Amino acid sequence: MPTIKLYDNDPYETSFIAKVLSCKATGDGKAELVLDRTLFFPEEGGQTPDRGTIVPEADEGISFDVVDVQIRDDVITHTIVPTRSRGVTDIPAHFSKGSGVSGQIDFFRRFSNMQNHTGEHIFSGLVHSRFGYVNVGFHLSDETVSMDYSGKLTEDDIASVELAANRAIFEAHPVFCRYPSKSELSHMEYRSKKEIDGDVRIVTIEGIDDCACCAPHVRNTSEIGLLKVVGRENYKGGTRLYILCGMRALLDYRQKHDVISQLSDITSSPAQDIAKSVFGLIEERDSLRQELFHIKMDRVVSLAEEAARDGERFLFIEETNDNIVRTGVNTLTASFDSGVSGIFFGNDTDGYRFIIGSSGNTDARETAKLLKEKLDARGGGKSEMVQGSVTASKDIILKTLS
Ligand SMILES: [Zn+2]
Repeated sequence: MPTIKLYDNDPYETSFIAKVLSCKATGDGKAELVLDRTLFFPEEGGQTPDRGTIVPEADEGISFDVVDVQIRDDVITHTIVPTRSRGVTDIPAHFSKGSGVSGQIDFFRRFSNMQNHTGEHIFSGLVHSRFGYVNVGFHLSDETVSMDYSGKLTEDDIASVELAANRAIFEAHPVFCRYPSKSELSHMEYRSKKEIDGDVRIVTIEGIDDCACCAPHVRNTSEIGLLKVVGRENYKGGTRLYILCGMRALLDYRQKHDVISQLSDITSSPAQDIAKSVFGLIEERDSLRQELFHIKMDRVVSLAEEAARDGERFLFIEETNDNIVRTGVNTLTASFDSGVSGIFFGNDTDGYRFIIGSSGNTDARETAKLLKEKLDARGGGKSEMVQGSVTASKDIILKTLS
């Protein structure tokens, strides 16, 4: 028997009473409950299902959360779990066939879905009438509302449809849903995502759009409040857009406003100048990095020159850039006629990375081999230069190399 869809005619109702048709446990602490009628909108047409609670008439004080709602062959199934599992072991025992229940939907969530869904219809209706593109995909969940269009929309196209959609919201167009007769339908022009067997429900936004749709909608476009496009990507040769309507748009604005306020404080600049200010900070950072690089380079080169003057072949310094170390090693090797010399960079606790070069005909790979054999070092390279890492103290490394 098809479930009576109470949300069809009265999307603003928040509670209802119904009779149990069946209830069976699913073995995971949940049960599937079928009622003769329901206000719970199931997962359908790209929209996630309603949430709420169901209370068996006979057992006052026991309540069940509706965690999923599915529809198949016009029969709506509620997946329920005890609101507090304490004491409830056999869910179907609370829902005998023919007994009464009362249900309550989470209307805050439902209304948000209604605002976003009607907003989507306005936007898609405008895209269709202006560009002829078809809405080939729609997804409405707690986090995102996405719509896929069969053609490419530019940033300008999107901005202009967004403006027109918000104008339609402010103009307060009535919205109504109905099932026209077959003959009436055959003369109507309406958008539809797929061929529909059986009765076709048409959602009309007066003066804007007619579309086949099974979901609850607001009764007037003014209730959407605001529609904002928040994302755009290319999708299967067309365009995927993300929008936010109503309270979701406000919450998003609030969050972004907070971020902008923080950035404004941090950069000491008004909102409209933040990007310029951040760009300036990045430029300053890059030039300081360059300056620091040269200072470090000069320091390592002069340490290498000093070591070479003292006849020291191995230098131990703190972690730094590979290019700087390589330049230091080149300074060392140029100071000797033969043998190896190099730089170990790091510390005794964490170990060192090293670059060792050769002067004259010496093969630096021999030194890498020695470090590998004696100190379990890693690395390798060419006869002129080897590099690697070793976990040992400065004293032990120097003893090994002496
Ligand atoms: Zn729809």
